[in-house]
Amino acid sequence: MSSQLTLALSKGRIFEETLPLLEAAGIRVTEDPEKSRKLILATNDPDVRVIIVRASDVPTYVQYGAADFGVAGKDVLHEHGGAGLYQPIDLNIAKCRMSVAVSVGFDYENAVRQGARLRVATKYTETARQHFAAKGVHVDLIKLYGSMELAPLVGLSDAIVDLVSTGSTLRANNLVEVEHIMEISSRLVVNQAALKLKRERLQPILEAFDRASKANA
Ligand code: ATP
Ligand code: MG
Repeated sequence: MSSQLTLALSKGRIFEETLPLLEAAGIRVTEDPEKSRKLILATNDPDVRVIIVRASDVPTYVQYGAADFGVAGKDVLHEHGGAGLYQPIDLNIAKCRMSVAVSVGFDYENAVRQGARLRVATKYTETARQHFAAKGVHVDLIKLYGSMELAPLVGLSDAIVDLVSTGSTLRANNLVEVEHIMEISSRLVVNQAALKLKRERLQPILEAFDRASKANA
């Protein structure tokens, strides 16, 4: 088996916030994914390369071993289920929360108390399904791929389940957070076979990530 390591990252905040952790492991990505169209990026270490994939595809690449390790949000991992993945480190980056939000003026508590059937629009159907099932609330889930905030404004749904950081997007669209589902941060995920077969190469990187991420806690 080759000793080359492949790290799966998504463009944007995960890439940006992982760079200092890589730096702590002595690894520098030598190309900028925002400027290059390349999906495979070299690093200063000839044995380490970075692949750029969709945030929600990171667990899939790592699960099947196309990447040895990757960085994914807890939101994405919760939807994926985590099969075939070892999740050794909370990197304490890309922090936000998963919440239920509704239009200002929609009485969520009352709707829940009355046992109303709620229409909920979300990208996170599995997380939403589990959350409302645990509360005993009946929901019709509507799968969306983005701009969830629009759904209650145009009558597509009564509520949304989405990520919130400052709350400014919700406020700008006349929505309010009514329930907090979970705290979100990104995790390091490692392919279980790679962890055994490439342990010698992986271990020092995992240790450097662990030390550097504790500083973000
Ligand atoms: P795509 O753009 O491919 O649909 P995405 O919107 O999920 O994917 P990002 O916005 O880069 O991609 O989010 C990547 C991860 O960062 C999310 O899975 C989540 O864990 C975290 N995240 C998302 N939004 C925020 C935010 N506002 N603040 C902090 N972390 C966030
Ligand atoms: Mg986004």
